[in-house]
Amino acid sequence: MSKKRKTGQDAERQRLLAAEAAAEVTEILREERGEVTDELIEIAARDAERTPEKQELLDRERAKRDSFYSDLLFSLTNIRYAEHEARLLWVNLLAHKTEMSDRLGRNVGVRVAALDYFKNIVGMLDEVRIVGGADFIETELLAVTDGLTGLFNHRYFQDRLERTLVRAAETRQPVSLLMIDIDYFKQYNDLNGHIAGDVALREMAAILRRSVKRDDVVARYGGEEFAVVMASTGREAARGAAERLRTEAEKAEFPNEQVLPGGNLTISVGLATFPDDAADRAGLIERADAALYSAKHGGRNRVCWRPEECRTVERVNATDLRAAWRPAGPDDGVLLPARLRDVSSRGAALGVENPPPPGSRLVVALTGGFRGKRLDVPALVIWCQEVPGSWPLVGVVFEPDGPEVRAELARLTVR
Ligand code: GH3
Ligand code: MG
Ligand code: MG
Repeated sequence: MSKKRKTGQDAERQRLLAAEAAAEVTEILREERGEVTDELIEIAARDAERTPEKQELLDRERAKRDSFYSDLLFSLTNIRYAEHEARLLWVNLLAHKTEMSDRLGRNVGVRVAALDYFKNIVGMLDEVRIVGGADFIETELLAVTDGLTGLFNHRYFQDRLERTLVRAAETRQPVSLLMIDIDYFKQYNDLNGHIAGDVALREMAAILRRSVKRDDVVARYGGEEFAVVMASTGREAARGAAERLRTEAEKAEFPNEQVLPGGNLTISVGLATFPDDAADRAGLIERADAALYSAKHGGRNRVCWRPEECRTVERVNATDLRAAWRPAGPDDGVLLPARLRDVSSRGAALGVENPPPPGSRLVVALTGGFRGKRLDVPALVIWCQEVPGSWPLVGVVFEPDGPEVRAELARLTVR
């Protein structure tokens, strides 16, 4: 045997030995780290699709390790739990996976469920590293959410409404749909800029999200339009919910909304209910849209559920109002007379006997339109003008001190 040949053989042997050793080391490491293959995780997570072969593999694996669940969770989270604790977590995790799948209407992978479970339920994602999870989640979430608002997107809304209606037809439950459109949003954009518009859209989305029940689905339908799907909800309950959304939007403060008609960023809502108003998805959307159109046509900032039926916001007629005033500060119960010359939701012109100079603060007390109550509105004097033969005139801008006052003022109609 030539030396050269022997060297070649040795090299080959060397290589094989090294490969064998590497495999062995890898195996030992896997054992030590308790790594479980992806396949095994999937099998353990899917009771429904378990074939006899898969079950056998699972049983064999369980018998082989006395740390089966511990290994399983370690592979998923990179954290080592004691076996009894791990078994409990695993059971909870599977329950969470089922619940998430039900809520989203499609099978959620075990890694997605694990991420959500450890992040939102157990509250310890910082320590947990969901192996191979991040990309998964990102793709799953990106596919169904709207980038700007974080709400569900249009496509998901359509899917979800369809599924909800199919289930509702089987269980004979009503479903209500709200179509929501921000009022005068083009003006808001034109006057404040698109970036401010985006901020307002995001804020409005958050208001809608937190003003509905957990199971209601809020989606961005497109542009400045939103949709809410409410399963097992009849018209009366939906009207209540819609009115709550409208009020929350009205009360919320948006940057520089004073520039809008009425000085307030508001929404109009159209409502339709399955099966009373329509028998299918397209019909229901059409009816809710028609109701939304009525709400716009009827003056905006209102909820409509049939073209002819709207819950209108009771308007306050400016010409019915009377005013009095007092200096800002503690209310000592004394009001001074004023002649109301002009008023809108943003401010007023008042004739007063001894006018405070521009820059002073006062409280304007309005009566005659607010359900018999007096509305006290803090205000700032911005100008003052002599009027021959009459009390001087002061111009004030209102500085409402809370959402209630703002909402009341928003009801003012100037003829
Ligand atoms: P209406 O009360 O009748 O609903 O009037 P509107 O001005 O809200 O309705 P219109 O449909 O004329 O205008 C909608 C505007 O919404 C147009 C656009 O400037 C704005 N908009 C739509 N999508 C976005 C968005 O993603 N970001 C911003 N900033 N503005 C948007
Ligand atoms: Mg619109
Ligand atoms: Mg609009």
